[in-house]
Amino acid sequence: MTKKKAQVNTAKAQKNASVAQKDTTMPDIVVLIRYAELFLKGKNRDFFIDTLVKNIKAGLLGCDISADLKKEQGRIILQNFATQKDIKAQENKDLEALKNLLAGALSKIFGISSYSFAYKLAIGECLQGVSEFAVFRLKEMLASGRDVEQSKMASTFKVTTTRADKKFPHNSDVISGSVGAYILKELPHLKVNLSSPELVVHLEIRERGLAYVYFKKIEAGGGLPIGTSGKALSLLSGGIDSPVASYKMAKRGLQVDFIHFHSYPHTSKQAKDKVIDLANIVKGYTGGRYLYMVNILDIQKAIDAHCNNAYAVVLARRVMMQIANAVADKFGYLALITGESLGQVASQTVESIAATNEVAKTPVLRPLIALDKLEIINIAKRINTYATSILPYEDTCTAFVPRSPITKPKLEKVLKEESKLNCTNLKSTGQDIQALIKKALENIEAIKI
Ligand code: ATP
Ligand code: MG
Repeated sequence: MTKKKAQVNTAKAQKNASVAQKDTTMPDIVVLIRYAELFLKGKNRDFFIDTLVKNIKAGLLGCDISADLKKEQGRIILQNFATQKDIKAQENKDLEALKNLLAGALSKIFGISSYSFAYKLAIGECLQGVSEFAVFRLKEMLASGRDVEQSKMASTFKVTTTRADKKFPHNSDVISGSVGAYILKELPHLKVNLSSPELVVHLEIRERGLAYVYFKKIEAGGGLPIGTSGKALSLLSGGIDSPVASYKMAKRGLQVDFIHFHSYPHTSKQAKDKVIDLANIVKGYTGGRYLYMVNILDIQKAIDAHCNNAYAVVLARRVMMQIANAVADKFGYLALITGESLGQVASQTVESIAATNEVAKTPVLRPLIALDKLEIINIAKRINTYATSILPYEDTCTAFVPRSPITKPKLEKVLKEESKLNCTNLKSTGQDIQALIKKALENIEAIKI
């Protein structure tokens, strides 16, 4: 390929990539998506990759991007990407904007370990085209300082090659050596540095004589594709911790829906709206589809009226667990998730957790149990929930907060306090705790998010 041809091809590829790529003879820009493969065996492997492909499709759709996805050996290849969003801007110049949009979508999809924007070249069995193209791009990068940090000043490079097509006549070392030698000849001020080069030319030789050339690997979220571990129900308060807990468990492959307990109208409509907003942010990571809203005002009032105030929070938590458990049973959620962190507040001592846990039949996952508040806050900022979480609308528990909550409740004392809610005069009005729980369950509002 001549220099001029390469230039024309790149310009065409960039234009095509921003709308739709049709001509496969051009060095189109594609995205090579990598996933961690270590544990993938047999059927598990197909399930993992198929779920990841499905999640990428859904993630792109959510960001208004269309693309074709192809499963290749060890990679998912995303090509022909385009967006209807502000298409004028894309057509004119802004391939970068489209790449950023795509990068934003990919960064939320668990199961992707890293990805690269790569040029796809049809090379047959010859390395000349790929060598010329690498030189052309390197010159462009060195001149503009784009794509690789400080590339303008870069003076060292290396070529690395992955050869998925074992029928290709040269092995990886020969390919790297040959392309490297051509680069040295054309750009004599560059030197090879294999241990810490400033520029890396990555080549992947794949089936049907296709080569992919890229210069950068972008780290992604890692973890497992959501859905590969089943689905779970997260107890989502309006606070900082539970959105982070939901995110963490989604990273391990759970599709996570949400349940929230409120005391409307004792707690405000803004407090409810804040939780809906949080669920809408977190669902971008967890694939959540439902937010179950449960009104526990009557239960809170009964606890307030009949029980020792120091036990109010632990009693309310047991009610939440019981209701969440019933919802999990009914809709097939395999686990519950909470944002508890050991010792953070009175209701999160081992004793309090034991008292709450006692009513749960479904496993309760507590991914933040060993994290410090600061660590949790940092994640909340990164996933964009922090600003919403700190809005000052009161939660059902803060609305009924005891003056001095018990920090190390004994289970028998908790049960004794709880039994006050089963007393005969409450029963006679149909307002004993089980009747109230039944009523709360019957009146759940399932919001599609
Ligand atoms: P968060 O920041 O998540 O509100 P927190 O530090 O305020 O947590 P607690 O109020 O003790 O801690 O709540 C512990 C966990 O119990 C929460 O992370 C959440 O999973 C669950 N939880 C508490 N209140 C509610 C609620 N109103 N609705 C749903 N879940 C709740
Ligand atoms: Mg809270």
